[in-house]
Amino acid sequence: MSSNKKLFIQTLGCQMNDTDSQHIVAELEKHKDYSQTDVMEDADLIIINTCSVREKPVQKLFSEIGQFNKKKKDGAKIGVCGCTASHLGKDIIKRAPYVDFVVGARNISKIKDVVDIKGSVEISIDNDDSMYEFATAKTNKYRASVNISVGCDKKCTYCIVPSTRGEELSIPVEMIVDQVQKSVNQGAVEVMLLGQNVNSYGRRFSDGREKSTFTKLLQEVSKVEGLERIRFTSPHPLHMDDEFIEEFAKNKKISRCIHMPLQSGSTSILKAMKRGYTKEWFLNRTAKIRSLVPDLRITTDIIVAFPGETEADYQDTLDVVREAKFDQIFNFKYSPRPGTEALKMEDLAVPDKIGSARLIELIELHKRHLEAIMPTYVGQTFSVLVESLKPNGEVCGFTDNYLQVFAKGSDELLGKFVNVKITDNSRTSLKGEIVQ
Ligand code: SF4
Repeated sequence: MSSNKKLFIQTLGCQMNDTDSQHIVAELEKHKDYSQTDVMEDADLIIINTCSVREKPVQKLFSEIGQFNKKKKDGAKIGVCGCTASHLGKDIIKRAPYVDFVVGARNISKIKDVVDIKGSVEISIDNDDSMYEFATAKTNKYRASVNISVGCDKKCTYCIVPSTRGEELSIPVEMIVDQVQKSVNQGAVEVMLLGQNVNSYGRRFSDGREKSTFTKLLQEVSKVEGLERIRFTSPHPLHMDDEFIEEFAKNKKISRCIHMPLQSGSTSILKAMKRGYTKEWFLNRTAKIRSLVPDLRITTDIIVAFPGETEADYQDTLDVVREAKFDQIFNFKYSPRPGTEALKMEDLAVPDKIGSARLIELIELHKRHLEAIMPTYVGQTFSVLVESLKPNGEVCGFTDNYLQVFAKGSDELLGKFVNVKITDNSRTSLKGEIVQ
């Protein structure tokens, strides 16, 4: 549909925010006749979709919208959406009166109702956002992202999500399958299923239907013809039951790379974080899944220097890192977030110097692991989904266990699976030659 109204949207933060932005665009295209533009100065509506999990969100938000306000065309509206919007609500309009509306991370479906009402603030975390307009969210032509739930029932003490996105609601399976099918019809061969805690999928639907499970959802999604690879994030180690691990092992469409966010290897810190599992449970789950999936790669998130973390707690984390042999670690030094329970643990804060030293040591330990493991791939042949062509004439793609591979090639290979024999490695990627 052609439209005179132009929408510019800027997204800060995580993958969830990226898909939320695409849902915002879909809502406004379908119901309000907007079309997207990449040029802010041409837009009739400017939206910034914020994140409060990382970075310095509040300062960044106000400096960005201040710039938008200076440069926007006359009469253009400004809306603030996402996690920081949930968190600050009407204070955003008090501090920046040129903002027209505020829509929280749990209120995406209301965007079409508030866009024309100056001063609207929609930030309820009880909103049923599980039925909003689905969009085809794509990382690239061959890889689509599909949300499977909104909100989170966990209360991890360092995390702002429960207070910005509310309780977990699962999106009905038929909507998810339909969206995956649409993405495949448009050229995607890989889908990323997204939720704050994908393993608890199916516990609650807004239409009151019977409970389901993530394992059943995986089985349904894998029936979509033309879909070759399924990935998902974020799983929760507590909910990785045997049924899920067995499905993961036998379902050939599921990528052989799993994210298992450890956060800490110390059982007492895990308790303070309210993660719900112990060091032993985590190691039991990684051992079980590795025993069933020999070529598995495991990625993780780790927070060091959580309030109260002693040297012994930190050593427990190093133990788990050595034993679980993670293939990629997203390391963070703890920093307090507004709206979280851990904010009240200030008196237990770990000195910054100690936190930084632990982070550096952890990074070094992982580097040594990568230096040992990456050369072992040289000489092996992998099936690689080619996703992009680089200016130097190399194509880039990913193996089934999500190793990044480069090889000489051409644009004819884009979107295809090719066999690549590995000839060289760095710490984070592989190089090879395409073979028959
Ligand atoms: S599982 Fe924990 S860390 Fe993940 S979104 Fe929920 S509360 Fe946050």
